[in-house]
Amino acid sequence: MGLEEKLPSGVLLTTVEKLVNWTRKSSLWPATFGLACCAIEMMASGAGRYDLARFGMEVFRASPRQADLMIVAGRVSQKMAPVLRQIYDQMPEPRWVLSMGVCASSGGMFNNYAIVQGVDHIVPVDMYLPGCPPRPEMLMDAILKLHHKIQNEPLGAKRARQLARAQAEGTAT
Ligand code: SF4
Repeated sequence: MGLEEKLPSGVLLTTVEKLVNWTRKSSLWPATFGLACCAIEMMASGAGRYDLARFGMEVFRASPRQADLMIVAGRVSQKMAPVLRQIYDQMPEPRWVLSMGVCASSGGMFNNYAIVQGVDHIVPVDMYLPGCPPRPEMLMDAILKLHHKIQNEPLGAKRARQLARAQAEGTAT
């Protein structure tokens, strides 16, 4: 009797899914860039006292081609929005976005024409982190919650959602 017949249906797929998700969440590499004051707390999170490398994040990558996590740390100006989108487009799939701080998530106190009123107008956001600025402990908590989300995501679900969004925006390739 073959292995597939002995195991309940879906067991192998579920195990592979868990393993793949575990490797993904255990080696998230953030892209290197900061937009405003929140970036100072993000940089502190990567330094010795908080040590993001404990969670498999090692160094922030200088090339978006080597990154799969975008931490939007600070308010997004209208001028910066296309650049941010370009960096996102250069990151390989699967990729995740963490919106750090109230300005990135909603414009915050900058309710004016120069600032994008929420980075989710530019890129899809997977995790929102409130605060002004969020402390490194809060950023680490958001990253661990993102880990949990990645670990429990069905394989291919994120890609399917992104394709549906790209088709709706008319940017599908
Ligand atoms: Fe600066 Fe606060 Fe806005 Fe972060 S949330 S960019 S700390 S004003």
